[in-house]
Amino acid sequence: MLTRTNRFLKEANLIGADWVGADSGATFDVFNPANGQRLGHVPNAGAVETRRAIEVAHECFQEWRRTTAAHRAGLMRKLHDVIMDNRQVLAELLTLEQGKPLAESLGEVGNSAAYILWYAEEARRVYGDTMPSPWADRKMMVVKEPVGVIAAITPWNFPSSMLARKIGPALATGCTAVVKPAEATPYSGLAWGLLAQEAGIPDGVINIVTGDPAPIGKELTGNPLVRKITFTGSTRTGKILLKQAAGTVKKVSMELGGNAPFIVFDDADVEAAVSGAMLAKFRNSGQTCVCTNRFYAQSKIYDKFVERLAEEAAKLTVGNGLDDGTVQGPVINEMQLGKIEELVADAEKKGGKILTGGKRHTLGGTFYEPTVIANAKPRMRFSKEEIFGPVAPVYRFKDEADAIAMANDTDYGLACYFYTQNLGRAYRVMDGLKYGLVGVNEGMITAVEAPFGGFKESGLGKEGGHQGIDEYLDSKYVCIGGLGQ
Ligand code: NAP
Repeated sequence: MLTRTNRFLKEANLIGADWVGADSGATFDVFNPANGQRLGHVPNAGAVETRRAIEVAHECFQEWRRTTAAHRAGLMRKLHDVIMDNRQVLAELLTLEQGKPLAESLGEVGNSAAYILWYAEEARRVYGDTMPSPWADRKMMVVKEPVGVIAAITPWNFPSSMLARKIGPALATGCTAVVKPAEATPYSGLAWGLLAQEAGIPDGVINIVTGDPAPIGKELTGNPLVRKITFTGSTRTGKILLKQAAGTVKKVSMELGGNAPFIVFDDADVEAAVSGAMLAKFRNSGQTCVCTNRFYAQSKIYDKFVERLAEEAAKLTVGNGLDDGTVQGPVINEMQLGKIEELVADAEKKGGKILTGGKRHTLGGTFYEPTVIANAKPRMRFSKEEIFGPVAPVYRFKDEADAIAMANDTDYGLACYFYTQNLGRAYRVMDGLKYGLVGVNEGMITAVEAPFGGFKESGLGKEGGHQGIDEYLDSKYVCIGGLGQ
């Protein structure tokens, strides 16, 4: 079996230099969402193992923080190379546990390597400040230092790259890390341990625990040795972690849920909008935080847009992500599939018209047909709830003000997209949209060079770009006096 020959398949946690099981010996199973087959099992650790990992990370921090930025950048470049040298096997592992098509997994692993390289470069540009002093005999400066041990919790939809965005800046700044990957996709997370070892990153800098999320999360947020918590996942879990982290006043970064609107104005290039829409909706079977949740098409082009979108969606080849030609894999599990079915049934009951798809795929398991629903209305549940599946509801709107108001009518504010060929409108709408990421005539805009992060209940802080590194640094003001005049 492919997994057994994949040398990145680790079935143990990494604490310091040791690959270990849970103290109790307990494990949990991991399944392939494409066929329900059990891939293996990993440790079901809890608070005690997590505390041990934190203590190791804290001890290791005392030395790691003193290494030079150039030294860490060198190790990170090696890490980048190890990832790229093993891109194919890492991508296969990712597809096996997550389900996405191999081409998307190759893209994600490449993206992980790109984040590590970006932060290797940024490591050497962590500048401080000096200020003109109000005192003739004193000098003033601001120096940056690593926050300390960071804790990272990540979701199953991008099990490799969501960790890259957190491990990258931690390594660059001289922080050490304890990370907890998602239960559904622990292998791509555990693989980071082996990658780090092969790149020569010192033991204890990166520690990985898998297991029961609530006790692990409580320890990570409650332990005073952890100075920062960085989380990617649902808004519901993010709020729990924020409350828990308040007890020890940690730095927090929260990359949470989305409800992305995608607006197509009458003056848009409709074919370009359809291409952008396909990327912004159906990538990773609609299971990304920046995936379009609501399409808005203006009255004059509405019919043309929905018809073309439905045509393109119907062409998508659904299947096992490892099979040639697959462009849409399964959704992650039965629970997620059930939620998609509920949302589609709710829309149909309230007048939604299914143009293509609308049901489980004949492949069975957790495969769902790419779906386009016309006549979407604000009263339908997906107007407020994240679909996280390959379902595209299309609403109709009258004018620019109407579109902006509908797009902003949500508690979320992560990504949004709009298509227009009118420059003035492009600026006005960009100004009006309350979102952290705005794609104008583009359906996929994430890049390591750009800051990623949401407004409102989509989160706090940024990942990527030069902004992403600040979250891992404390600023210290120093005043040196007694210098004479
Ligand atoms: P989730 O249920 O919140 O899980 C995310 C992570 O949190 C998993 O590792 C999970 O562990 C862990 N977790 C769950 N309950 C916890 C608790 N009480 N204490 C500590 N950790 C806990 O989210 P998901 O369903 O995996 O991921 C999908 C969500 O992530 C969507 O809302 C999506 O929009 C969001 N997301 C956001 C971004 C972004 O950058 N803004 C990127 C990707 C995804 P288990 O797996 O063990 O349950």
